[in-house]
Amino acid sequence: MIVLTTLAAADPPATSVAAPSDPKDPEPASLVTLSVPDRTAMERLAASGADLTERMRPQPDGSVQVDAVVTPSQLAAYQALGASLAPETPPPPATAQSTAAKDQLVVERAVWFRSRDGYFLSVEASSSAGEAATLSVTWTGQGGSTGRAPMTPYVDAGAYLGHQFSAPVPATSRPQWVTVTSATGGTAEARVRAWPDGERPDRAGPGYQKDFVTQYMPPAQLNERIRALHRRFPKLTELITLPYPTNGYRRHAQALIGTPPAAAVVVTSDAYGSEGGNDLAVELADPGVPGRPLRVTVNGKIITVSLATDGSGAPASTAAQVAAAINATASNAVGGNAVGGNASSSNAVGGNASWSNTTKGSGVKATTYRADPGAGIMAPAPLTQLSDFLHAPADVSRAPARVLALRIGAHRDGTRTGVLAYAQEHAREWVAPLVVVEAAERLLRNQAHDKATRRLLERTDIFIVPTVNPDGANYSFYDFNAQRKNMTNHCPPQQSDPAQRNTWGVDVNRNYATGSLSDGYFGASANCQSGTYAGPAEHSEPESRNVMWLAQAYPNIKFAMNVHSYGGYFMWPPGAYKLDGRVTLPRPTAQQEAYFLRSARTIEEAIAAERGTVTWPQQTGPVTDVLYSAAGNSADELWYEHGVYGWDFEVGADLWNPATRAWEGVGFQPPFAEGHAEAMEFASGLISLVGVAADFREP
Ligand SMILES: [Zn+2]
Repeated sequence: MIVLTTLAAADPPATSVAAPSDPKDPEPASLVTLSVPDRTAMERLAASGADLTERMRPQPDGSVQVDAVVTPSQLAAYQALGASLAPETPPPPATAQSTAAKDQLVVERAVWFRSRDGYFLSVEASSSAGEAATLSVTWTGQGGSTGRAPMTPYVDAGAYLGHQFSAPVPATSRPQWVTVTSATGGTAEARVRAWPDGERPDRAGPGYQKDFVTQYMPPAQLNERIRALHRRFPKLTELITLPYPTNGYRRHAQALIGTPPAAAVVVTSDAYGSEGGNDLAVELADPGVPGRPLRVTVNGKIITVSLATDGSGAPASTAAQVAAAINATASNAVGGNAVGGNASSSNAVGGNASWSNTTKGSGVKATTYRADPGAGIMAPAPLTQLSDFLHAPADVSRAPARVLALRIGAHRDGTRTGVLAYAQEHAREWVAPLVVVEAAERLLRNQAHDKATRRLLERTDIFIVPTVNPDGANYSFYDFNAQRKNMTNHCPPQQSDPAQRNTWGVDVNRNYATGSLSDGYFGASANCQSGTYAGPAEHSEPESRNVMWLAQAYPNIKFAMNVHSYGGYFMWPPGAYKLDGRVTLPRPTAQQEAYFLRSARTIEEAIAAERGTVTWPQQTGPVTDVLYSAAGNSADELWYEHGVYGWDFEVGADLWNPATRAWEGVGFQPPFAEGHAEAMEFASGLISLVGVAADFREP
């Protein structure tokens, strides 16, 4: 039996306990760790549209573990692709091939770091025998300590990228020398260097204020927070309303009538639920006498389907016939005048005029269930109210949302180096907005009395966007906490019944125009239900257009931080490759690459200073090297189209569990104490990035 752990959440939403047996309700989703046998299977899993997190860990036996959000039926489908739930204990390393010739080894990097949990060692090496090599590391450290750990081949898209540890290994004291040994005889030695060993952050002066976030915040609260900062610091800030309104936290109202698959009909309102769709209702009536034809009548907001009967008086209309009859009669009639079917409906009672005045749509559409032809006979059904199935309180706006940016700086005239920090492209990443809001508030509250902060505001021009995807964020807060994408449904009717509503939407960070799915790059999906759905076209979504509008409107922006969670990464371009041949977007020059890395180490030093969280060296680097290909992501478009140093944070580094001596993932919505700590440390990192920008000189 498979037991799924439920998605960690501060307040589990009601939908996570929805009964999966009701065909109109989505299956519950869970955050699990999957294990796949190798990297090829990992690519198949990604290509299938699996909702993968950024936490991915190669294992010593060549398998890969990755956290994913799955429903029970998705898990079954992924098991057919070779995935299984990861075991509690990692697999043993693959056994050596003793007949192979002696190989040549190179130690690419050997570093130690000290986190709040003590010393750790990270080693990256490569073998001339490639992924077939079985490597292990022994080390010696201060005080004569020693240790040994197996290495893991890291293979991506068929390319051998070297060996590394699955995760940094603990050491009893500071490691000084490592020896990498191959089962076929190769050896190599290296001195162990410090990590991240960046420039030490400024020591906060006396009276430096921080810690301004006290809870996870939905979009309305985030926007109110930056509005309040603007009111409090009008001389240092301006509020920018981004030009593209989102579609809004709203959906068409629906009802699922009957018994899926063959004897069921899905009725969908033209109007959004909040704009009249939720007021509609449908019933399937049994005329009770033999030989009646199928008829649809509309009485105000009530659609009555009078089922056909056979010679014995039994209902005889199929699902397909009922859907067709509703579409022929009611689609332009609800709330107005019925056409065909029944003249009496034109005299309908029920105040329909006011409803039709307030909506754009005037009716409903009906379909059979998913791809079913609908040959089943429909049973009578009582009056069923249509619903948009949205559960946010009434004070959460259903209107298209305006995305806000808070611009911070003493000289906001385009003469200072611009820094863009934007969060929550992915709705469920609740910590990300806290990072940028905390950083903004620190910069403003400390400007008056802290010299270092004042220098930053003198020399830079900062653009803070707390939530790029507010509709999805509301859905994550109030309806389905694992929501990743925006709320806009581009699916055809057969993928749009109510039980599929948690799969709709566009992955905002796959909707950009550089290295995109339509350009042939890997790591986005054309399936509207996939976790990485790229959308119907590049920039089809207002959420992505807003981000690029900022880069275009403010060409002084030279740095950007795209804040995501979780896993503890610090990444930069290239972020996408074509699968065939693993052809990446162009690499930055060696000089640029060195600048990315040097800046990263400085910023990671600031993150670590907060509570001793060290971003792993193997998770610091180009997206394609340390994670996977993500076609059409925003950092790539910023870098390749606008020359912006586009970085990504994955906040929420793994936590070391001393009892099990294993690293553990933190999830998207950890208990607030952990989310708060992540916000504090990555806000420090973001302010360090502003410091990097303040020192930037055009080459
Ligand atoms: Zn994300």
